[in-house]
Amino acid sequence: MSNGFDPFEDASLIVAHDESNAYDAVVPPIVQTSLFTFIDYDEMVASYRGEKVRPIYTRGLNPTVRMFEEMLAKLEGAEDAIGFASGMSAISSTVLSFVQPGDRIVAVRHLYPDAFRLFGTLLKRMRIEVTYVDGRDEEAVARALPGAKLLYLESPTSWVMHTHNVAALSALAKRHGVISTIDNSWASPIFQQPISLGVDLVIHSASKYLGGHSDVVAGVVAGSKELIGRIRSEAYPYLGGKLSPFDAWLLIRGMRTLPIRMKAHEQSTLSIAKRLQAHETVETVCYPGLANTLPNGLKGTSGLFSFIFKEGINVRTFSDRLELFKLGVSWGGHESLIVPGEVVLSQKAQPNSAVAFGISPRSVRLHVGLEGTEALWSDLEAAISAASAG
Ligand SMILES: *Cc1c(COP(=O)(O)O)cnc(C)c1O
Repeated sequence: MSNGFDPFEDASLIVAHDESNAYDAVVPPIVQTSLFTFIDYDEMVASYRGEKVRPIYTRGLNPTVRMFEEMLAKLEGAEDAIGFASGMSAISSTVLSFVQPGDRIVAVRHLYPDAFRLFGTLLKRMRIEVTYVDGRDEEAVARALPGAKLLYLESPTSWVMHTHNVAALSALAKRHGVISTIDNSWASPIFQQPISLGVDLVIHSASKYLGGHSDVVAGVVAGSKELIGRIRSEAYPYLGGKLSPFDAWLLIRGMRTLPIRMKAHEQSTLSIAKRLQAHETVETVCYPGLANTLPNGLKGTSGLFSFIFKEGINVRTFSDRLELFKLGVSWGGHESLIVPGEVVLSQKAQPNSAVAFGISPRSVRLHVGLEGTEALWSDLEAAISAASAG
């Protein structure tokens, strides 16, 4: 090249940039690196001995991931948090850090389907037993707890949206020396802070509201330094489901608008759920926001709910006529989505979905996005009238 610069020989392209110099950028840099080098032997040996806390390798510690973990811990009122590559990675690494063969878990009924399948397959093979109880029945939970290692909660539950008295259930767990965990993805830390209700470990699928833009799959667990430390040192490093720096950066971006998004989801969903409940074609709406009072500890309600049509409504026509509500799994993003119950029930791998998850064939699950309440209601009304016509 005329200026003498050879991109293949100039070391300045290869040597690390000063990562502490972020140019006073309003958005943090993505520290997209697998490893971190040491100034000298002494620094390396101090890091290995744990005398100096600094990143060594991104599976262990990465500054962008750490920033997300600290933000989430703060929102949940927890001492610490740990990020994962998915919500399921968060669930499996948490559970496997506290149980061993012969142990028993008490779980509430109608769990998130893949958590239920984890318990029924891998954990079963490891001789870990799971007792399912109705989380609304505190006496049943109390009867199941003696001798258990872990209480696994989800409130509201997936699809049927049963809510539980989380404070009462975590107090029961404490009385029996059982570690309590909860999947808090639905409420998000904006509407429910389980640590303040006495729960030990709070799990999120960050793919849902924390990310909020349907562009990341991630998970996180928050809790005390001691319990998060156990996850960090036991199952986590070896299962290796690390949150990536770029995904952490997307989550940091998403979480800035979490409070206002949650308010918008709540307002729209409440309005739509009420109109559906009053509609002549609808049998039942399963949405905690419709109760006269919210259960203890729940400060608001999000955008995911299900409802059951009366006989004679063609769910296929309803689903296909919707324009703003797209057929699609997951939820928590800006967009509105529908999952018909009969499609879930047709899944070959899970013939007992109706019992395990409480799914009725005439039910549909909706996620109410941020498109605007009246536009979404018009979409639903038009699809219902098409589906009633035969
Ligand atoms: C999606 C979801 C999960 C699993 O999270 P992934 O990020 O998809 O692995 C766990 N719990 C609930 C309630 C969910 O909706």
